[in-house]
Amino acid sequence: MCAVQAQSPVSLEALLSKRPLLISGPCSAETPDQVIETALRLKATGKIDLLRAGIWKPRTKPGLFEGVGKKGLPWLQEARSQTGLPVMVEVATAKQVEEALAHQIDLLWIGARTTVNPFSVQEVADALRGVSIPVFIKNPINPDLELWAGAVERVERVGIKQIGLIHRGFSTFGQTPYRNAPLWHLAIEMKLRFPTLLFINDPSHICGRRDLLAEVMQRAIDLDMDGLMIESHIRPDQAWSDAAQQVTPEELSLMLERLIWRNDDSHSVDYHSALEQLRQQINQLDEEVLQLLGRRMQVAEQIARYKKENNITILQAGRWQEIMQRTLARAEELKLGREFITHYLDALHMESISHQQKILDNKTPGIDSAVGG
Ligand code: PEP
Ligand code: MN
Repeated sequence: MCAVQAQSPVSLEALLSKRPLLISGPCSAETPDQVIETALRLKATGKIDLLRAGIWKPRTKPGLFEGVGKKGLPWLQEARSQTGLPVMVEVATAKQVEEALAHQIDLLWIGARTTVNPFSVQEVADALRGVSIPVFIKNPINPDLELWAGAVERVERVGIKQIGLIHRGFSTFGQTPYRNAPLWHLAIEMKLRFPTLLFINDPSHICGRRDLLAEVMQRAIDLDMDGLMIESHIRPDQAWSDAAQQVTPEELSLMLERLIWRNDDSHSVDYHSALEQLRQQINQLDEEVLQLLGRRMQVAEQIARYKKENNITILQAGRWQEIMQRTLARAEELKLGREFITHYLDALHMESISHQQKILDNKTPGIDSAVGG
């Protein structure tokens, strides 16, 4: 289809030291025209350093678009020759690595559904033995830093020198506005564990919807990430995968212009990162406590329905005494003050009774409850 124009490794190395490093392209390569037009329009923004596109798409459920496969690789070569932008694809198997290398793809990344599986990571790593190519590793779907670190070690051991990390959020229990909860404290911990590796944020897969992108991009910059990978499509709503989270190249350009890039001061960055890490841990724990309290009230409501059906009173003193005794004993073991826990239990009990009372009164339980005992 086109003449292959290999990039010199020197320029790629120089490019990877640029800050911020900005990567963009469609979630999936769909047609030659879509790939080339996206590439040209991204290049025209003057802001993008590397072009990404999914060729093989690992999908959580069968029946979804699984990528165009290797026939898309020459489209990327053509996009590179028309824009001069190095190209990057996701690989999940040895065969995909071979095909990408045979088409002189400049960089590879390992996706979140691959990082979770050490067999797959090892297969990809083995196919890369003796090859000189930068490899980016996305965090695994589940919030497990050991798996992520393990993937880095496997890729390092086969001799890959340029490794980057991509933070794309984690699948967690409970409701969040994000497709994948960012769990920033984990990203920061990983960054501190591998301080010499490039650390890129992928707001597209964190957000899952374009209206949240700007906020997450800003957060990533404030946390001193080295760059961003953002999905872009010439007709986002018609994209064959991840339609809701993609933006046009021009929209992306505007979003990048609106970001506030703070001055780099590496001394204070270390300090802020440590403090920020602790604050993020607190935020995450508070979120989990709230979610658990919400679930606890739902169970109390189920109990109320049962009591209603069986004509049992809400307050059963014996049961509450038992909860008090058990919680106070456990609190002592956890070094939580008796007075604090007594206040907490009182408040919990009142809220629980209020939820139960509303079930008995046929009202919807809510935060305005003020019923006492
Ligand atoms: C992608 O980058 O399009 C992708 C599939 O991402 P992830 O592996 O983060 O889900
Ligand atoms: Mn995608």
